[in-house]
Amino acid sequence: SVFEYAPAPESRSVVDIAPSYGLFIDGEFAEAAGGKVFKTVSPATEEVLAEVAEAGAEDVDRAVRAARKAFEGWSALPGAERAKYLFRIARIIQERSRELAVLETLDNGKPIKETRDADLPLVAAHFFYHAGWADKLEHAGFGAHPRPLGVAAQVIPWNFPLLMLAWKIAPALATGNTVVLKPAETTPLSALFFADVCRQAGLPRGVVNIVTGAGRTGAALVAHPDVNKVAFTGSTAVGKEIARTVAGTRKKLTLELGGKGANIVFDDAPVDQAVEGIVSGIFFNQGQVCCAGSRLLVQESLHDELLDALKSRLSTLRLGDPLDKNTDIGAINSAEQLARITALADRGEAEGAARWSPACELPASGFWFPPTLFTGVTQAHTVARDEIFGPVLSVLTFRTPDEAVAKANNTPYGLSAGIWTEKGSRILAVANKLRAGVIWSNTFNKFDPASPFGGYKESGFGREGGRHGLEAYLDV
Ligand code: NAD
Repeated sequence: SVFEYAPAPESRSVVDIAPSYGLFIDGEFAEAAGGKVFKTVSPATEEVLAEVAEAGAEDVDRAVRAARKAFEGWSALPGAERAKYLFRIARIIQERSRELAVLETLDNGKPIKETRDADLPLVAAHFFYHAGWADKLEHAGFGAHPRPLGVAAQVIPWNFPLLMLAWKIAPALATGNTVVLKPAETTPLSALFFADVCRQAGLPRGVVNIVTGAGRTGAALVAHPDVNKVAFTGSTAVGKEIARTVAGTRKKLTLELGGKGANIVFDDAPVDQAVEGIVSGIFFNQGQVCCAGSRLLVQESLHDELLDALKSRLSTLRLGDPLDKNTDIGAINSAEQLARITALADRGEAEGAARWSPACELPASGFWFPPTLFTGVTQAHTVARDEIFGPVLSVLTFRTPDEAVAKANNTPYGLSAGIWTEKGSRILAVANKLRAGVIWSNTFNKFDPASPFGGYKESGFGREGGRHGLEAYLDV
C-alpha cells in the first residue's frame, strides 16, 4: 500500500499548497474576471491555507462554453479511448493519494485515517469502475446508441469533497459528457488538485472545468442556459431551490440531499458489532454525512446493555489533530456548521432529552464538537426529526418490529438505514418496509461504486453509482 510508510502524525509537508489558486477553465488556471478571491481555512487550526478565485457569472459562462466546445470531440471518441483517460486518472489518484489525503484532511478537518483509508480508495475505485463502463455502454441494455447529454453542471458539498467530485465526474466522463463542477466554498482545494491530475492525465482541454466560489457561483452555473444536466449534492433547502431553477427547462436533474437515517438494533443483535456500526454510523466524518445513522432505534429489552457498551466505546475515541493517524474524531468543517450543530444540540437539551458526552478536551482553536448522545428521545424532540449533520446521536426505543419500522419511516427523509439482528428473515422483512435508498445489515457505511446510491422523499431523486447512475448522464 502507498500508505505503509506514513508516519504518525502525518506530515503536512507531503503536499505543496500554493498561496493562491485560480479557476480551472479550458485546461488553464486563470483568475476570476472580476479579480475576486476568498480564503479557505483549516477547520482544525483556523489557519488560512490559500486564497482561491471566486467565479462570477462571466467566468461560469466561459467555463460552460469551454465544456461545450470540448463536448464535440469528447463525445465522438470511442468509449475505449475515454476509458484510457479514466484509467489514467484513477492511477494518478492512487499514486498521489498520500498528497491528496493530507490536502483533504487539512481543508476539511476530517481524520487522516478516514481520508487515507476510506475517501481516497473510494475515489480511485470510482474512476476504475467507470473506466470499465466507458466501452460497454452499447452492450449493457442502454439501447443501441446511448447518447451523452452534453454539458453537466455539478455542484457538490464539503463533507466528502473529492469523493463527491468522483461520484459526479467519473460517470459524466465515462458516458461522453463534459463537466463544469463547483466545489463547496470551504473545501475547494482537492478539486483544484484534481484539475492538475486531469492535466497530468492529458485529458483534452475543456472536458473538466472547475469553478470555485460560494452559493452565488453555484446558482449561476445551474441557471446557465447551455447546461444540459444538473447534478447536486447538499442541503434539501438548496436542492429545492435548484429544482425550481431547473423546472421548465429541458435540463435533466438529480438531487442527493439530507437524511435522518435510523440504525435499528434488535435484542438478538451481536452487541459489540452493533456498537462499532453505531459509532461508524454517526461519528464517521464527525457525523457530517448525509447517510449517517443519526437515530438509534434500540429494542427496549436491549437498551441499557447497549447504552452502557456504547458509552464505554465512546470514551475510547480520540478527538484532536486530524493529521494524527490515531485520531478518530476531527474538526467540524466550518464555524457556521459548528453553530448549527450547537444550536440543535442545545435545543435537544432545552426540550428535555438527556445529553451525554464522554470526558474530552476540545482544542483551543478550530471548530470542535464532542461526540454526543441524547437519550430519552421521542418523536416530538427536534433532535429526532431535524438533520443535525454533526456528531450527535438521538436514541429512541421500540418494542416490536412494526414499531421499529414505523419510527424509522417517520421522517421526511429516506436515504439510509441499518438493521442489526441475527435473524435473516427479519432483516428481509424489515428492509422491505423501510423507505430508504440504502439499507445496511449488521454493518454500516459500506460503499461500492457498483451500488446505486440515492434517496426517497426529501432526500432527493435519481441514483449515483452502478448502472442506474450512468442513466442519469445518457439519453437512452
Ligand atoms: P449547501 O446545500 O448550502 O451547499 C452545498 C453546495 O451548494 C455548495 O457547493 C454551495 O456553495 C452550493 N450552493 C449553495 N447555495 C446554492 C444555490 N442557491 N444554487 C446552487 N448552488 C448553491 O449546504 P451547506 O450550507 O454546506 O450545508 C447545510 C446543510 O446541508 C448541512 O447542515 C446539512 O444538513 C446539509 N448537507 C448535506 C449534504 C449531503 O451530502 N447530503 C452535504 C453537505 C451539507
